[in-house]
Amino acid sequence: MTPAQPEGRPTLVPIRGMQHPIAQVEPLLKTELLWKVYRTGQVEVPALQGVTFEVLPGEFVAVMGPSGCGKSTLLHVIGGLAQATRGRVLVDGNDLTAMSDAERTKLRRHKVGFVFQRFNLLPALDARGNIALAQHIHGNGFDPHRFEVVTRMLGLTERLHHKPSEMSGGEQQRVAIARAIINEPKILLADEPTGSLDTKNSTLVLEMLRQLNRDLGQTIVMITHNPEAAAYGNRIVHMRDGVIVDGVPEE
Ligand code: ADP
Ligand code: MG
Repeated sequence: MTPAQPEGRPTLVPIRGMQHPIAQVEPLLKTELLWKVYRTGQVEVPALQGVTFEVLPGEFVAVMGPSGCGKSTLLHVIGGLAQATRGRVLVDGNDLTAMSDAERTKLRRHKVGFVFQRFNLLPALDARGNIALAQHIHGNGFDPHRFEVVTRMLGLTERLHHKPSEMSGGEQQRVAIARAIINEPKILLADEPTGSLDTKNSTLVLEMLRQLNRDLGQTIVMITHNPEAAAYGNRIVHMRDGVIVDGVPEE
């Protein structure tokens, strides 16, 4: 738990698993008693029921839990894709829950990268086009150096002129990861990124996520229900019935 701080001072917590154990940093992501209730007609589904957790800069956090426990909802709310019903979400010090839709979209575009189970690439564009489009939308224009670093690290150099239909699932997911991190987001959010891949491609994708975390310092939150995938993270958080039950084993 975070110690109480005097009014107006940022909350400081010790870095875990990093090179300077005495150093103090602010969390990059923080949720406080986060609720999300879906309303469909008369039915209310409380998908998040008071989630409180933090992610420090440079962490690779795996969020595990059974199907339906609220993992995707949590990722959508912390990434600004969906609005919280109650509670707070702070991304890099910005309170998402106090923002308009337009402000949240802008923050998401500049600070968050998303990777989904089903890749979601544009079929008409080749790998290069899919990645470059993200740079264009971001408003920075094409940055050849960043493009080169990211595509080399993800082993895509020989695949840049292939369209999604001409690539394996593993290659498509690596393109999706490149697209997600090309604009140097503060945080990469991945929802079951290996859920559509065979074991060999899953391992490759997970190794690359680990490399992005270690070599580029990319902060990652990855959702998975697979313990082997979760083991790639440097911290595992367990979720059940809309809350985080940290430290409590799955079964
Ligand atoms: P997980 O990713 O862990 O499988 P989800 O976050 O997708 O869990 O879902 C959590 C709960 O919220 C489930 O009961 C699910 O049926 C419900 N849910 C998810 N999305 C919606 C939605 N758009 N409308 C209504 N209920 C939803
Ligand atoms: Mg899900």
